Amino acid sequence: MPEPWTDQFREKLLANKDELQQRLARIEENHRRPLAQDSTERATELEDLDVVDALGNEARFELRQITAALARIEGQKYGICEACGEAIIEARLLAYPHAANCIDCATDKAPAGVPQHAAEE
Ligand SMILES: [Zn+2]
Repeated sequence: MPEPWTDQFREKLLANKDELQQRLARIEENHRRPLAQDSTERATELEDLDVVDALGNEARFELRQITAALARIEGQKYGICEACGEAIIEARLLAYPHAANCIDCATDKAPAGVPQHAAEE
């Protein structure tokens, strides 16, 4: 495969990274707001913070995947499945530029929390 084929993905990943970093900055900004004195209001705000935490974790997780993908581009290992060493098809990379596994390996170990046979029941 010609070397510059990863360029479009690098650009995509860098743009995603920027966006995530901005999102995280906003989330952390919200975190620093002092809580209300009133206890009922405070409970609602703490619940909000839980949501904010979840969003933050999600963004941080995605950011880690993107950073890893950028490292794979640098190491010229981008587009190669980390599990089986096969090439990841371009359509998958276009949909998930940070994909570390080919479709086969990704389907093998379905992400936790997604019931695999839910549709059959
Ligand atoms: Zn694989």
